[in-house]
Amino acid sequence: MERSTIVRVHEGLHARPATRFVKLAKSFESDVDIVKDGKAVSAKSSVKLMLLGVKEGQEVTVRANGADAIEAVEALIGYLENPLAGLDEQDALKGDSAPVQAPQLASPEPQAVPTTEAGPTTEAGLVGIAASEGVHLGPAFAHFPPEIGTEARTLAAHEIEPEIERFMAAIAAVRARMDKVLADETLAGGDRGIVAALRDIAGDETLVGDTVAMIRDRADAVAATIAVSSRLADEFGAVEDPYLNARADDMQAVGRQICLALLGQDDVSLERIAQGAVLIADDIGAWDLARAPLKRIGAIVCGHGGATSHIAIIARSHGIPAVLGLGERVAELRSAKTVAVNGNSGAVIADPDAATRAHYERRMGEATTERDALSVFKDTVPTLADGTIIEVAANLGSLEEIEAAKEAGAMGVGLFRTELLFMRHMHLPSEDMQAETYGALAKAFAPYPVIVRTLDIGGDKPIAGIEFPEEENPFLGWRGIRMCLDRPDIFKRQLRALLRAAVHGNVKVMLPMVSDIEEVRRTRLLIDECAAELKAQGAAFAPFTLGVMIETPAAVLIAPALAREVAFFSIGTNDLTQYVMAADRLNPTVAKLNDVANPAVMAAIEMTVRAGVEAGIMVGMCGEAAGRPDLIPAFLRMGLSELSMSPASIPRAKKIVSELGKAS
Ligand code: PEP
Ligand code: MG
Repeated sequence: MERSTIVRVHEGLHARPATRFVKLAKSFESDVDIVKDGKAVSAKSSVKLMLLGVKEGQEVTVRANGADAIEAVEALIGYLENPLAGLDEQDALKGDSAPVQAPQLASPEPQAVPTTEAGPTTEAGLVGIAASEGVHLGPAFAHFPPEIGTEARTLAAHEIEPEIERFMAAIAAVRARMDKVLADETLAGGDRGIVAALRDIAGDETLVGDTVAMIRDRADAVAATIAVSSRLADEFGAVEDPYLNARADDMQAVGRQICLALLGQDDVSLERIAQGAVLIADDIGAWDLARAPLKRIGAIVCGHGGATSHIAIIARSHGIPAVLGLGERVAELRSAKTVAVNGNSGAVIADPDAATRAHYERRMGEATTERDALSVFKDTVPTLADGTIIEVAANLGSLEEIEAAKEAGAMGVGLFRTELLFMRHMHLPSEDMQAETYGALAKAFAPYPVIVRTLDIGGDKPIAGIEFPEEENPFLGWRGIRMCLDRPDIFKRQLRALLRAAVHGNVKVMLPMVSDIEEVRRTRLLIDECAAELKAQGAAFAPFTLGVMIETPAAVLIAPALAREVAFFSIGTNDLTQYVMAADRLNPTVAKLNDVANPAVMAAIEMTVRAGVEAGIMVGMCGEAAGRPDLIPAFLRMGLSELSMSPASIPRAKKIVSELGKAS
């Protein structure tokens, strides 16, 4: 029994639809295949199905053989032609989905970076990128998940069946462990989806079937698991689809868990990090770090990452000193017991001598004293001599950071990065959940403004539900506002959610990566369309003010014209610097050029502020430079009236502005 049809599943059969399709196929006894371009795979294996890469609009055939073949074909064709509409977040949270990977940070070449702060004479050791300020001395916590390495063994004939049993028991143990995690009611939604999808992969018929076949061919279970999971990971890695590429890591992760269960070992988990420990790793996914017990982490040292990578941004927003970009030399710290980290100079010292320890202990004490002294500025309203109030606001990426920002005295939010909301889920977040998130943010800071940035994502950090093309230069490619305008389905969902959230507080919205005035005009038309739709539905909404980020040289050069179209500018110095200087913000080899204080960048900032001030609109800054004590006076002289930064930098910025106000 077989039937062909054109697939009507939005985005095709990967992620959640693939899991649903497989679930449906498994509910029938018959053997069921799906055929595309002459290639047939089992419809009961989500791994095989995802690798087949079925896209919306393509023709496929469903073929079944068995007692309930007719019903199976009918049901599956029915799904492909009319996938169940209206499935919401909860489906995914129940584990009915595949996970999204955390964005991978760039992999800079190991490179020594000049220090910016002289250390004590005893300060020697490694030097990396000073990515989050502060000094720390603490016990080392090396996070280098070990390679699984055992000697492959050829089984004797009588060992085959017991080995298969051992393998099946390991699969059951891994799935049971994952079920236990899923049973924890406090597990966050994003984590739940990731664990549930890994559990599905662990039981996938391709992974299990192919491994058992290898054991029957006399490979031992660990070797067979490594071979099959690596082969499937390679197949995912070779697919031209960033979402499926990321599934390669899932295959490796599940393979690793099964091997550990076979070997009776546990994996290294960030959960076990001790209070005040220095986390040392080659790389940490930004999402893994966001879920780690950040309050316990004393400092972070990584082989990968740069000053404006997301790992650095998370570290800064939690006030955790960090040195990144050490390259392969980070491995030298693996056996250290104690590590001293200087997030101001980039120095990292393994097992420091007594003099260095004393130096760091003194610096930590001073930092605590300074923090206490700065805390008196928490409620200060920083005012210049002419009475201008400078809004010192927070850069946030999630609702979890609200408390720290308020604690630091944030006068609202100058940049809410919405990417994490999209990365945390296995599918595009619904309008309702976005409206709820933006609304909660607005309520938390009312009457201060919260500036939400519309989705700023590109092919370098793909997310589920959007297919990004392979690009030679993703940073110059289809990202930010460019991608959003090409995907009005995604963009309008976010704009509608923002209009709904504006009922709850002072919501402002800004567009990233603007380089052409038409991008603003086209966005306005979409906002009008969204408002009309909400009105027709009788939904509660309120207008918001629209601004743009100034992060491209093009935006600087057309700033006078842009200023006539929008209510505010926010200067994104992280990107503006890399584009003005043509120096990649993640590449330590050009870190010297990637300097906001370079006269070229300062001139671009000044041109922007002048254009905004002449047009009478607010000009703020939300790039990392906004929190730099050495540059704040220059920015204020130019006429900036809002500075938005990592919460940890707020008290000092407030102090600097207040003192400037009194001195002039
Ligand atoms: C910037 O580019 O300065 C900015 C604030 O945006 P992001 O760091 O998220 O690119
Ligand atoms: Mg930017």
